Amino acid sequence: MQNKLFIYNTLSRKKELFEPINSPFVGMYVCGPTVYGDAHLGHARPAITFDLLFRYLKHLGYNVRYVRNITDVGHLVNDADQGEDKIQKKARLEQLEPMEVVQRYANSFHNNMNQLNTLPPSIEPRASGHIIEQQQMAEQILKNGFAYEVNGSVYFDIEKYNKKYNYGKLSGRVLEDLLNNTRALDGQDEKKNPFDFALWKKADPEHIMHWPSKWSEGYPGWHLECSVMSTKYLGEKFDIDGGGMDLIFPHHECEIAQSVAANGHESVKYWVHNNMITINGQKMGKSLGNFITLNELFSGSSKFLEKKFSPMAIRFFILQAHYRSTLNFSKDAINAAEKGLQKLFNGIDTLNKIKPAEKSSVDIKSFEQKCYNALNDDLNSPILLSYLFDGIKIINSIDAGKNTISNDDLILLKKIYNDFVFDILGLKNEETDSVSNDILNNAVDAILNIRLDAKKRKDFELSDKIRDELDRIGIVVKDKKDGFEWEVRK
Ligand code: ZN
Repeated sequence: MQNKLFIYNTLSRKKELFEPINSPFVGMYVCGPTVYGDAHLGHARPAITFDLLFRYLKHLGYNVRYVRNITDVGHLVNDADQGEDKIQKKARLEQLEPMEVVQRYANSFHNNMNQLNTLPPSIEPRASGHIIEQQQMAEQILKNGFAYEVNGSVYFDIEKYNKKYNYGKLSGRVLEDLLNNTRALDGQDEKKNPFDFALWKKADPEHIMHWPSKWSEGYPGWHLECSVMSTKYLGEKFDIDGGGMDLIFPHHECEIAQSVAANGHESVKYWVHNNMITINGQKMGKSLGNFITLNELFSGSSKFLEKKFSPMAIRFFILQAHYRSTLNFSKDAINAAEKGLQKLFNGIDTLNKIKPAEKSSVDIKSFEQKCYNALNDDLNSPILLSYLFDGIKIINSIDAGKNTISNDDLILLKKIYNDFVFDILGLKNEETDSVSNDILNNAVDAILNIRLDAKKRKDFELSDKIRDELDRIGIVVKDKKDGFEWEVRK
């Protein structure tokens, strides 16, 4: 099977053949959330986009190290290095320790990610755990002459960097235009130029999250953590970096500048960005009053929706659009996604009931290749889904006796649906999952009741054998005075 994956690189602005630097190893870094509130619909899209990429790369046989950070310090309310730290602000409003805010919303984020069936990253580093490394990189950039220190803060010198390298290459912005279209610095700003960004900020007296450094008691700038943690866990050169499109400028542009200024070369081979979700055609925002958290969606408590939607309906809704297209959320769209998902699972149920015939009247091998071709073309999940729905028409025609399928082709067709729907698109049928859970629970209870009878008869050989066999498959049995308890080993 030919599996050449092409992926759109934001940097070159074209689809490129995916060739990892140290194949079969793939290093992938994704900018994770700043954890100061519950995850919302906008968080679901990068999570699912990069989960699809992670799952597909693994399916293709790559050994992927997926690093997704948690921002727990340095992300200020205003992106221009001003205002309160987002975590600190939430801590003040809720009267919590900043790290209590971080823990609470990191837990909530993980719970939502689990509900959406995204695989956990291989490493999930936090900015606050890498303060020393961030100071070291700031120091290196200073030493290389691309930063300056003022009053205990260290700023990146964009103009100086741009003389040697190209600031703006990722976003396509030109520094001169940026400067012409920006108001002049007000007298209070200590930066040489409004686009210079903080590598280290001296903490104001009211700022409670701060660390000692040679420059001041302070904290790192937001962009620095990603250059530092990607390098630390993936090396000075790695394959994929990305996140939502809103991070292209300034965050990822600054990440490139920092890495080049510190190491003398770029780090990232493929920059991958997903587009945004709009709600009824509008940008989502707290100030616009159209903000929906994932918990509200899953519980039906949002004032925009009359009912709850399952995490799998949301996942399917997101996968129905190509990750680089805008995606508009509306009641009609999510209702349609819910129905589409059910149709897909109904088709799979029918597939599982089909009996093979002597010969096939359908071509399953070319169907498989079409599915791969869709994903190989820059992860085109909507085209893949349209093929899977075409496949359901074939399944129904076999079920109705209008077509036939051989045993080998039937096995292949089941494998295709299993691989693409469950393993790669990461969908799961919660209904059948809960039915099979019930069956499993009842089966284990039935076996353990037989063991209980054996013990009463003093047939310890059988009772021990049952216990050991269950233990071998990961079911731990605990004997109680009047019966038993069991659990699946974690
Ligand atoms: Zn980042």
